[in-house]
Amino acid sequence: MSKVPLPARLAGYRAAHAAGRPRQLPVNLTVSVTYSCPSRCATCDIWQKKVDDMSVDEYGRTFPTLRKVPVWVTLSGGDQFVRADFDEVVRLVVTLIEPGIVNIPMNGVITERIFDLLPRIAHHTAVGRAQHVLNLSVDEIGAAHDEIRGADRNFEKLKSVAALIHDLKKTYPHVVLGVHTVISKLNVARIPDIEREARVLFRPDSYIAEVAENRVELKTMHKDITPDPRDFRRATAHLSNVIRANRSGHPVARLVESLRLEYYELAARILEEKRQVIDCYAGWASAQLAPDGHVWGCCVRAESMGNVREHGFDFAAVWFGPQADAFRASVKAHACACPLANASYTNLLLDPRSLVRVAANMAGLPQGAPPAARFA
Ligand code: SF4
Repeated sequence: MSKVPLPARLAGYRAAHAAGRPRQLPVNLTVSVTYSCPSRCATCDIWQKKVDDMSVDEYGRTFPTLRKVPVWVTLSGGDQFVRADFDEVVRLVVTLIEPGIVNIPMNGVITERIFDLLPRIAHHTAVGRAQHVLNLSVDEIGAAHDEIRGADRNFEKLKSVAALIHDLKKTYPHVVLGVHTVISKLNVARIPDIEREARVLFRPDSYIAEVAENRVELKTMHKDITPDPRDFRRATAHLSNVIRANRSGHPVARLVESLRLEYYELAARILEEKRQVIDCYAGWASAQLAPDGHVWGCCVRAESMGNVREHGFDFAAVWFGPQADAFRASVKAHACACPLANASYTNLLLDPRSLVRVAANMAGLPQGAPPAARFA
């Protein structure tokens, strides 16, 4: 089955959203393969959740029902490397969904397993001709990182995993090394230093950050971790300035930078105004498959639209079912708001005004409206 070109697909989501009737499977899919995790992060209690993780065989039955629609697949956890069969899950994603981008966030804790599986995973994504992004989670520098992440010697281990990825990049140029920081009350004042030091120590191809939130998936609804919006804006202003001062000449990298500039502004506005500043397409264009087979519109609400295990492992049967319709209706009615980065990137691509600004930014044109007037 050939892929529908992305612009046509995006137009289809906009039309379906306007009509209130979904017609397409999600273009952006997160597959969370386990809640298990050896880390005890101050910003995440997902490890407390115990479920029966989907098996490789169950993924093998479910993925074909996505009809190769997802272009961007994120494989998340928990810690995916808890699973000795994680490389097989990635292989099935690549062969049965054929996404253009495979994104794997990594905490770098179980180094022995990572050194064993990551070369095989990079091989699978190379065969599948997917861009392969490996994002190392770096929330502080040195011992302060280990404390936030609740994991002994984690920072040192991350350095060895970064060295492994740099080595893999020589054989697999499709691999991209990213550093990802969760901005919380614990580190918001130090983001400029963390960003600068992480760039020197890990030499990533990209540095990204998002805000610590209260998410049902992470069991963090009770935690006081989200930074003050003014502090968050100060932190992302620094990150945006760094992007503007170091624009890439490569068109894809430039597009990603332009999207990120829009994302930082959007996330700050959502934190300040506590509303969907642009329409959210979670449940319309983006989705998550939980480790136990539940399909969610997003991990912030983590509301089940149904479980593939109860629908013959048919993702589409859940996606086009009545529970999913109810979720979509509430999102369209702006019943919730959040700056979740994964969903926001899709939302920006589906917002015409944002797209115009991204295009202008890519072309190096000055941005007309001041920040406060954007996303009006
Ligand atoms: S706004 Fe946030 S919480 Fe609401 S559906 Fe979108 S991603 Fe989920």
